[in-house]
Amino acid sequence: MKFGGTSVEDAASFERAAEIVSRERDRQPVVVVSAMSRFTDALLRSTRAAEAGELEKANDTVATQLARHLEIAELFNGDERDSLISNIQLARIEIARLLTALVAKSGNRLALVDEVLSYGEQLSSLLLAGVLRRRGVVSKQVDARRCVITNDEYGCAAPLAEETAWSSRNVLAPFLEHGIVPVLGGFMGATVMGQTTTIGRGGSDYTAALVGAAIDAEEIQIWTDVCGVLTADPRIVPEARTIPRLSFSEAAELAYFGAKVLHPKTIQPAVEKNIPVRICNSRLPQAADTVVCASSETARQTVKAIAHKTGVTTVQVSSARMLGAYGFLRALFEVFDRHRTIVDVVTTSEVSVSLSIDDTSTLPAIVQELSQLGTVSVEKDRAIVCIVGEGLRGTPGIAARVFNTISDINVSLISQGASSINLTFAVDQSHVQETVMRLHECFFELGARRISAAAD
Ligand code: ADP
Ligand code: ASP
Ligand code: MG
Repeated sequence: MKFGGTSVEDAASFERAAEIVSRERDRQPVVVVSAMSRFTDALLRSTRAAEAGELEKANDTVATQLARHLEIAELFNGDERDSLISNIQLARIEIARLLTALVAKSGNRLALVDEVLSYGEQLSSLLLAGVLRRRGVVSKQVDARRCVITNDEYGCAAPLAEETAWSSRNVLAPFLEHGIVPVLGGFMGATVMGQTTTIGRGGSDYTAALVGAAIDAEEIQIWTDVCGVLTADPRIVPEARTIPRLSFSEAAELAYFGAKVLHPKTIQPAVEKNIPVRICNSRLPQAADTVVCASSETARQTVKAIAHKTGVTTVQVSSARMLGAYGFLRALFEVFDRHRTIVDVVTTSEVSVSLSIDDTSTLPAIVQELSQLGTVSVEKDRAIVCIVGEGLRGTPGIAARVFNTISDINVSLISQGASSINLTFAVDQSHVQETVMRLHECFFELGARRISAAAD
């Protein structure tokens, strides 16, 4: 059972999360929890301030956030209260030490940042285990670094599959055998040498899936602030509604192309062990939710959801040398490989290749190398829109409906995913809201209006 930041944002939400766990107590739950909402952002800001030499500002940022944790600890009584408060004070001292090291530029900068960031999850797991105990649930905080073993790519470390499975099983089994609910922080791990790492922003979902797969869980539950995966991002489309069932492939595409409700890597461990992933609302535990499992039925209108991702850059390489030649694409992708840059969408014509990337930190070097292969053009501030649904490729008329609906918006990089369940394209970032709203209306609202009009 994984609880996201907004599910542990204050005392009341900690209580709600604990209530949800206590109802599942007979199913031997393992709990994974994110940092309290906004805390990771604040910790990251404090590391940046420290790196800029502003130690006081860095410590102040942390202190404001720690006060939120202390408020919750103050609600306890006796030894539990004292122990929680002293643990939070210890965290403050330790974070201050790490920030000072960042100011002094002593030690591996990225390793220090990860260690600071891990305090978000260290403290939320400490508090949630306490809140559970107060409700009579036998519970203990477990250091996630004993379970999730990663490589040393700080900031976005890759979990080592076998080591993580083995360690998670060994660490967690004794708790489960004795009826104790283990509570571990998401997002963080450690290298085989024990150095703290983090596995990428939003990574607590991934922790839950890794741990769930390791212990052969019956189900992986992601408790968040919305009623499951919705037909579009509710911040853009307030009318978006819950999708009751998604296949692993549909959910993976949606997560990859921007549906923030699931970290893109969450699905992979679940697929390997065929474990259903359930996404539920911690504020409305009885409300509709989404189950992601091996197969799902084709939706009436085929399209199940629309995801979008902003901040995308598209790169086009044109060269007559590509015509009828082999080895060109290899040379092109090797450039991205060398710069460890992930390519999302790719389309090709006779003489050009267009692709999209998220991370532009190495773009100048990439462009320089690509220029040796052909003429390069770069477009920033683009967005990817992705229409997902099983059976999309086999259903005539979908692409026509999509592009008719947005016929006045300039579209590029059109790609029918190789998985046959998605249709992806790029638009200018300034048009993405309009695009998603119109497509949602076309596929989800007009049909519903017609049905309700017929019923009237
Ligand atoms: P948590 O803190 O629980 O991990 P996140 O903020 O990471 O929660 O993810 C939940 C948010 O994802 C929602 O509040 C919503 O704004 C956003 N979101 C984007 N696309 C979707 C979608 N298709 N369905 C549901 N939520 C979405
Ligand atoms: N706390 C981490 C973040 O904000 C991980 C997570 O919430 O999943 O990115
Ligand atoms: Mg999240």
